[in-house]
Amino acid sequence: MLDLAIIGGGPAGLTAGLYATRGGLKDVVMFEMGLPGGQIMNSSEVENYPGIKEIVTGMELMEPWPEQCMRFGLKHEMAEVKQVKKENETFKVILSNGKEVEAKNVIICTGSTPKRAGFEGEDEFFGKGVSTCATCDGFFYKDKEVAVLGGGDTALEEAVYLSNICSKVYLIHRRDSFRAAPSTIAHVKERENIELVLNSNVKKVYGDAMGVLGVLTVDNDGNEKDLKVPGIFTFVGNNVNNGVLKQDDGSFLCKMSDYGEMVVDLSMRTSVEGLFAAGDIRIEAPKQVVCAAADGAVAALQVIARSL
Ligand SMILES: Cc1cc2nc3c(=O)[nH]c(=O)nc-3n(C[C@H](O)[C@H](O)[C@H](O)COP(=O)(O)OP(=O)(O)OC[C@H]3O[C@@H](n4cnc5c(N)ncnc54)[C@H](O)[C@@H]3O)c2cc1C
Repeated sequence: MLDLAIIGGGPAGLTAGLYATRGGLKDVVMFEMGLPGGQIMNSSEVENYPGIKEIVTGMELMEPWPEQCMRFGLKHEMAEVKQVKKENETFKVILSNGKEVEAKNVIICTGSTPKRAGFEGEDEFFGKGVSTCATCDGFFYKDKEVAVLGGGDTALEEAVYLSNICSKVYLIHRRDSFRAAPSTIAHVKERENIELVLNSNVKKVYGDAMGVLGVLTVDNDGNEKDLKVPGIFTFVGNNVNNGVLKQDDGSFLCKMSDYGEMVVDLSMRTSVEGLFAAGDIRIEAPKQVVCAAADGAVAALQVIARSL
C-alpha cells in the first residue's frame, strides 16, 4: 500500500511529491496523465514566479521540477485517474486502465481549466493576446488599452485590476447589467478608464504573426465595433477538474463548494481524514503557480505529520 498517492502533476502535485519524499515518506506515487508540469506549460511568458529574474516560458519554468522530485524518490506513473474512493481506512485509486492502487493518504492536485468563450480567433491567438489570467499577463499591457470579456465577479475584479496597469479597459458584457457583488460593480463604475460595452459579445479577434491587433464586438442589434487593442482577457467561467472525486452514487467523496471546488482548511485538509487538496482545485485558490506549489508543500507536511 502506498503511503501517499498524489493525483495530478502540476506545480501543486510536484511540490507535494518533493516535500513528501524529502520528508521521509517511502512509497509516494504521483499519477499524472500527461507530461508533469501542469497548465502553466501552455504559457509563453511567466514573469511572476519568485526567484526567476527573466521572463521564461511555462515549459522552461517547469522543466527542472520533475527531476528535482525524482531525486528524493518520487515515482511518476503516467496514467489517468478515474476515481478515488475510501473503503474503511484505505483509499482506492482507480485508473482508467482498470488498475486499482491502495493508499493511506491522497492529495488531489488535478487543477482547473478556464472555459473558452468560443469566438473566432480565440484559439489561434491564445497566449498571443488572448488571456484568461490578468495577474499573469496584465503587466505585458502596461499603459496600453485592453478588453475584458465577462460579467461576473471575476471579470469585474480583473477589469479593476487591469485598470490600475493599463491606460484603458473596455469591459464587454452580453447583458445590460452585471451578475457581481454590488461593491465590485461600484468599483468598476468609479474607474474613469473602464468603458462599458454592454449588450455585446465578441465576434472575433484579429491580428498578425506578432499577436492580436483588435477585437470586433457585435451588439444585440447587430452593430459592430472595432476595438484596436493588443489584448483581450476572457473570464467566462472555470472548469474545476473534480471528476475523480465523483462516487458511484453521484455524490462527491468530500465536501465541495457550490462551484465544485474542494473545501479545505488552512492545512489543506478536507472533510475526509487522510484526503487533502492543493492548488487550483481547492476553494479560494489564487490560481497562481507559487500558490499551488505552496499548497502542495502544506498538504505534504500534513501527510507526514499524520504518518508519524
Ligand atoms: C495560459 C496560462 C497562463 C498562466 N500564467 C501564469 C503566470 O504567469 N503565473 C502564474 O503564477 N500562474 C499562471 N497561470 C496559472 C497556473 O498555471 C495555475 O495556477 C497552476 O498551474 C495551478 O497548478 P495546479 O498544480 O493546481 O494545477 P494544474 O497546473 O492544472 O495541474 C493539474 C495537473 O493534473 C493533471 N490531471 C488532471 N486530472 C487528472 C487525472 N484524472 N488523472 C491524472 N492527472 C490528472 C493534469 O494533466 C495537470 O497536469 C497560467 C495559466 C494558464 C492556463
